[in-house]
Amino acid sequence: MNSKLDCRQLKKDALLKLKEKIEKEALQPVLAIIQVGSVDASNIYIRNKRKAADEIGITTTLCSFEEDVDQETLLRKIEELNENPNINGIFIQLPIPSHLDEVELINHIDPKKDVDGLTTMNLGNLVSGEPLLTPCTPNAVMDILEALDCDITGKNVTIIGRSRLVGKPLFHLLLQKDATITMCHSKTENLKEHTLNADILITAAGTKKNLITADMVKEDAIIIDVSIIRDEQNQLHGDVDYDTVKEKVNYVTPVPGGVGQLTVLELMKNTVKANEIQKTYTLKKK
Ligand code: NAD
Repeated sequence: MNSKLDCRQLKKDALLKLKEKIEKEALQPVLAIIQVGSVDASNIYIRNKRKAADEIGITTTLCSFEEDVDQETLLRKIEELNENPNINGIFIQLPIPSHLDEVELINHIDPKKDVDGLTTMNLGNLVSGEPLLTPCTPNAVMDILEALDCDITGKNVTIIGRSRLVGKPLFHLLLQKDATITMCHSKTENLKEHTLNADILITAAGTKKNLITADMVKEDAIIIDVSIIRDEQNQLHGDVDYDTVKEKVNYVTPVPGGVGQLTVLELMKNTVKANEIQKTYTLKKK
């Protein structure tokens, strides 16, 4: 167990490897990012993604829309990007304003270009055990478990949060690694009973800081905190009371500097993968 794992370093090393692959295979991946409105947090996330892409040789193109854009305009843009052979990946920066139908927009993306892995088709591929492109944040959690050299087989894993974005796909990625999984959510009774039973606890509730305290975790557990909670002072927190929990467990990811680091990496990996999938598909069609 590598209890000193540094997620920033892990991201740096993996991005370098990806850069070498892009150069060696003379790939020219292109990622289109769709942004609606101009929320500060989204601007930062997009800036980070574009910076990482630029560093490793992935071209990004930003498609920005006003806050009040209608569904039709976005659907038409997605169609245009789907049909453009020079675009390999399409990513919608979430959240988007509530007047828009998020799932319909996501499902309009060609599954071969769905670098966030969130179309119903790609989620279905994952559930059926034949994944094509899988969601970035759950992939990031799996990256961390792999880097920790953590044997997942048969282990008790508790996931907090059952969203389409995190909990549900993560459940299936872990199931493929033979974990024994408990899925908790806002209606779960006696959360502590489930967290105390976890060899690996993955938490993505995002509702209040310090939801998970030291008395709720097993000694020597591995804790992965996906949540990002912004307080009134603009400070970022996760679900876990990091300072006290870290004294008790084998490893806990910090927020910031944990899962979020690897999510960006996973978007880059999926863009390169989408580039490869489309090449294979074009060859098959010929
Ligand atoms: P969501 O609101 O869609 O889902 C939250 C889930 O947590 C729900 O299933 C809900 O039932 C459950 N939940 C809420 N409060 C709970 C409680 N007290 N006890 C048990 N379960 C509870 O959110 P999401 O999109 O899945 O995101 C979750 C968190 O992860 C957010 O803080 C978000 O910002 C963060 N996030 C981080 C990254 C990253 O890159 N690090 C990526 C995506 C999301």
